[in-house]
Amino acid sequence: MNILVFDTHSFEKSVLTLANEKFGHDLRFVETRLTKETAALASGFRCVCAFANDRLDQECLTILKAGGTELIALRSAGFNHVDLPSAARLNLRVVRVPEYSPYSVAEHAVGMMLTLNRKLHRAFNRVREFNFSLDGLVGFDMHGKTVGIIGTGRIGSAVASILRGFGCNVLAYDIAPNEELAKACDVKYGSLNDLFKNSHIISLHVPLNPKTHHIIDDAALASMQKGVMLINTSRGGLIDTKSLISALKSGHIGFAGLDVYEEEQGVFFEDHSQDLLQDDILARLLTFPNVFVTSHQGFLTQEALANIAHTTLENVLDFESGRALKNEVHAQR
Ligand code: NAD
Repeated sequence: MNILVFDTHSFEKSVLTLANEKFGHDLRFVETRLTKETAALASGFRCVCAFANDRLDQECLTILKAGGTELIALRSAGFNHVDLPSAARLNLRVVRVPEYSPYSVAEHAVGMMLTLNRKLHRAFNRVREFNFSLDGLVGFDMHGKTVGIIGTGRIGSAVASILRGFGCNVLAYDIAPNEELAKACDVKYGSLNDLFKNSHIISLHVPLNPKTHHIIDDAALASMQKGVMLINTSRGGLIDTKSLISALKSGHIGFAGLDVYEEEQGVFFEDHSQDLLQDDILARLLTFPNVFVTSHQGFLTQEALANIAHTTLENVLDFESGRALKNEVHAQR
C-alpha cells in the first residue's frame, strides 16, 4: 500500500525502510508535521503514517479523507492527538502501536529520577569547566524511599519492578489495579490522595484523556509532601504547568523531570537553537536548576524503534489484507 510518512526523523527513516523489506509497502517520507495546513500533501495516499506530535483534528482529517486516505497508522502508543469521533464519522480507520518497549520509557523515567536526585546534569556541566567542587550536589538514597506510580499498565509496571530492585517502597494508583504486579513486586494500591501524601517521588504513567487531564493541579500539588520529586514521561497535559511552576517557585515541589510538556507540539523533536524561544512558560521551566526537561525521548531506543516500525507496517498490511485490525483505536462511547 502507498503510505505517506509524516514528521519523519533521521533516527527512524532507516529503521522503517529496513523493516519494510519484509512488507513491501510503497513508503514516501516527508519531514513536515501532519496538521490541517499540510494534510493536502497526502492526496492520493491510502495510508498516512503520523507521529506523536502531529495534530489530527477535524479539519486535518476532513482534508485527508477528501484526498483518498482510508487508514491512519500512528507510530505511537498515545492517540490523544487524534480527533477519534471525527475519524469515525469520516470512516477513517486509526491504528497505533500499543506496545513497543515499555522498558524504553520506564528506564528513561528512572534515569530522570537518578539525574535529578544525584544532580548529574549539574555535575556534568561543572566538571567540564574544571569545577570539581561537590557543594550543592548532595542527593538521597533511593533505597527505602516511597515512590508513587500513577498508572500501572505496561510502563508503570516496568518502573515499579525497577524501583523494587533499588529497595524502594512502591505505592500505586490505577482504575484497574494489577493484582499480579501487587503480588510479584509488593506494590501497594491505594487512593490517589494517599499516594500524593506518602510519596517521596511520583511518576505519571496514565494516558491523557478527559479524566486524566491536569490530574496534577494546584490541589494535587498542595497535597504532596514538601520536596517531592515529580516525573512525567507520559503526556504533558497530565500536569497543569502553571501550577507546577508556582509550586516549584515556593519550594513545595523539590524536583521535576519532564519528558513531555503540554505545549510541546511544534517545539519538541525540532532544532530551535537558532530561534528565540516564544513559549514563556517553557522558558521559565528551563530556568530551574531542579527541573530536568528532555524532548519526548522516552521511547528512543533501538529496540523500541524497530518494534514501532514492524508493528506500524504490519498494521497497514492487516488493513490491506482485510484482516481484523488488532491495534485499532476507537472513539470512547
Ligand atoms: P497502558 O495502557 O499499558 O497503561 C495505562 C494504565 O493507566 C492502565 O493500567 C490504565 O488502567 C491506567 N489508567 C487509565 N486511565 C486512568 C485513570 N483515569 N486513572 C488511573 N489510571 C488510569 O499504557 P502504557 O504503555 O503503560 O503507556 C502509558 C502512557 O505513556 C501512554 O498513554 C503514553 O501517553 C505514554 N508514553 C510516552 C512515551 C514517551 O516517549 N515519553 C512513549 C510511550 C508511551
